[in-house]
Amino acid sequence: MELLPTTVIGSYPRPNWLKHALSLYRRGKIGESELESAMDDACKLVLKEHELAGVDIVTDGEMRRDEMVEFFAERLEGYRFYGDVRVWGTAHYNKPAAIAPIRYKAPMLVSEFSFARSCTSKRVKATITGPYTLADWSYNEYYGSKREFVMELAHVVRQELRNLVSAGADFVQVDEPALPTHVNEIELAKDGFNEAVRGVDAKTAVHVCYGDYSVMLPYLNEFNTSQFALEFANRRFSDLELFKQSDFKKELGFGVIDVHNRRVETQEEVEHGIKLCLNYLEPDKVYVNPDCGLKLLPKEIAFQKLVAMVNGTQKVRSQLTRR
Ligand SMILES: [Zn+2]
Repeated sequence: MELLPTTVIGSYPRPNWLKHALSLYRRGKIGESELESAMDDACKLVLKEHELAGVDIVTDGEMRRDEMVEFFAERLEGYRFYGDVRVWGTAHYNKPAAIAPIRYKAPMLVSEFSFARSCTSKRVKATITGPYTLADWSYNEYYGSKREFVMELAHVVRQELRNLVSAGADFVQVDEPALPTHVNEIELAKDGFNEAVRGVDAKTAVHVCYGDYSVMLPYLNEFNTSQFALEFANRRFSDLELFKQSDFKKELGFGVIDVHNRRVETQEEVEHGIKLCLNYLEPDKVYVNPDCGLKLLPKEIAFQKLVAMVNGTQKVRSQLTRR
């Protein structure tokens, strides 16, 4: 494998025609099989765009998932839904409540992963919401404590991860976006993660974004993961300073693309960021990715950002090999 492999965090903008198909489906104008076929086409398109941009480790853009918790809660036993809750100012989601023991019913991501894998010769990363975020973004009306709730969800995530690995997944990323808002619960998130990956025979990454890494950093080595994929571009790489004194032993998925800004980074900015990163970490410990999922950007901008990310990375790579 080449140095500085490039990848994505997971989500990607849905094509407009897929949004149209979804709205037709919700109004009963098209059936499930037509929607399913549109979803398949959208996944192929996203995989192809990742390939065209030159990304090494791709995803299907999570086309089939509306958001990060509801998707799983709908497919597990023990949840009920109370209706729309407002998040992030504008987006809404149907916040689930645990009202009975949460139980695994059937694989949730295996078919989407297998489909993606059948459409590309590139390595496909599987992504899943982590137990801490699944618990934190639901109501708990059953478990005696948040810890109990998180650990139960960890068992569920573990079953799914094992099924993904059986289906051929060799790289799985566990997303914990809820962690930065409760950094004091990092021990709980860590215990949940470690239980979720127990006996899972694959490379793993944990994705966290927009958090205070100075608080998190001392705990990161205790996660049984090969990698942390973190955001750096949004704060102009200033968080790298924290890694100067740390004994961080994991690989770093280094965020070089700001997903909250529509301006497309130049290849030189990406190159500059990676070189800063290499002041603190060995090149064989660094992967290159956007700060977070690209879902909320216009699709054309998301694509251009990936192109800049790949071109900037290739520049650094060629300089490293000449050295
Ligand atoms: Zn993120």
